[in-house]
Amino acid sequence: MTQTSHQRSIPDHPSGCRWCKKCEKFLSLDRFPGRKRRHECRMHRKPKIMIERQKMFKDPSRLGLWRMWHYIYLDSKTVFGHEKLGIFQEHIKKICLKNSIKPSVELRILPTDPRSPITEDNISLVDRIGRMVLTNTWKLTKNTETYQTVLKQQVCHNSSVKGTSPENEVSTNPQANT
Ligand SMILES: [Zn+2]
Repeated sequence: MTQTSHQRSIPDHPSGCRWCKKCEKFLSLDRFPGRKRRHECRMHRKPKIMIERQKMFKDPSRLGLWRMWHYIYLDSKTVFGHEKLGIFQEHIKKICLKNSIKPSVELRILPTDPRSPITEDNISLVDRIGRMVLTNTWKLTKNTETYQTVLKQQVCHNSSVKGTSPENEVSTNPQANT
């Protein structure tokens, strides 16, 4: 066992409770994680990734960035069948900056050339509806020319990007909620 002496110093309560040093009270054993005898309850031993994620969901820009990356990841694997992912959140940040737009949950990134992996040189910015239209077009046709024709109609320029500024978070476009 690797327990330190101070952890051992507070024995479990005879009623089957253990001391949580963060809650500063005894809690029933089922409130503690894992097999290891620790003095931090489940609530206080959240994995780091969960804490990070909670922080992220409170920041619209970080959430937007994550969401954009997440859909690239999904579409790369399931729609376009690319093995490798050539883009990360820092790349998306740069791309948004270059286009003077904020990362947003309303935005999506798709490959300009659907047959090549999404990289910094192979991206197009579209909105949520645009992504649905384009992924469906690709799934149905597998035709690069058709895809790129539709892409031209859907691609966002910074003037046409809806819902990217905080005061415009809720889009007035009725289609945006479908
Ligand atoms: Zn606790």
